[in-house]
Amino acid sequence: MTPFRFPDPPDGFRWRTFGSGEPLEALTSTRFPALHGFTCRIRNRPPGPHREHWASHLGSRDGSAADLGLLERAAGVQAVHALRQVHGNDVHVVRGARPADPPCGDALVTRIPRTAVAIKAADCVPVLLADPVSGAVGGAHAGWRGTLVRVVEAAAGALAAEAGAPPSRLRAVIGPAIRACCFEVGPEVVSAFRERGHDVERFTLRPRAAGRPHLDLVLANRLQLLAAGLPEPAIEDTALCTRCQPAFHSYRREGPGVGRNWSVVVAGEPIA
Ligand SMILES: [Zn+2]
Repeated sequence: MTPFRFPDPPDGFRWRTFGSGEPLEALTSTRFPALHGFTCRIRNRPPGPHREHWASHLGSRDGSAADLGLLERAAGVQAVHALRQVHGNDVHVVRGARPADPPCGDALVTRIPRTAVAIKAADCVPVLLADPVSGAVGGAHAGWRGTLVRVVEAAAGALAAEAGAPPSRLRAVIGPAIRACCFEVGPEVVSAFRERGHDVERFTLRPRAAGRPHLDLVLANRLQLLAAGLPEPAIEDTALCTRCQPAFHSYRREGPGVGRNWSVVVAGEPIA
């Protein structure tokens, strides 16, 4: 395979190794108040001199069940809950054991300590949420369709309700996603946002006078977090573009057979 390089972490983030027997490296914020990580296409940097020639893959298209087991062992939790994601705005509240078949939806929330929720994405915007007081956490999957129906705003509202927290107390971190540099869309997508009442001009770029528009989906979701009541300093961003960075799975770069990057967050104990 081609030599592989983990991208340099932006300010406030680092690559952290989870687990021991089968270590897993994930990008984490140094400030976010819950155990969490964003994975890429490779599980970890192998030791030794030929490290660039060996790698174990993560996030293959059909490997979700195996991935969830690996994520559970790496995070040291009983269950990592995931969804059958459908680009909608349904939020699933986790209050029990992991079902055999994942429920449909695009956001997950839980306040059960040592329970994790996971979002998978390959260009779509993954957003992780946490309430530092109750320990409750959430995650949302926002491609352009999910952004259009405000899934992140719904997730923040559901987490505030489940945590009994004012939204101003919540924290958010935005994972690797396709950025405005690469997310060219047709004019009908811009129109769809306008018709739904989004202030779409704020997150639409036109790099060339005659070219197709580019959407800044990350900014669109940042605006939804602000609308939900999160203060600006509570929102962190990995600032990495999945299409620009070969370390990440990218639908736009690889097409329909693409794998998925995982975004995982673990609920903690309430602060007494
Ligand atoms: Zn890009």
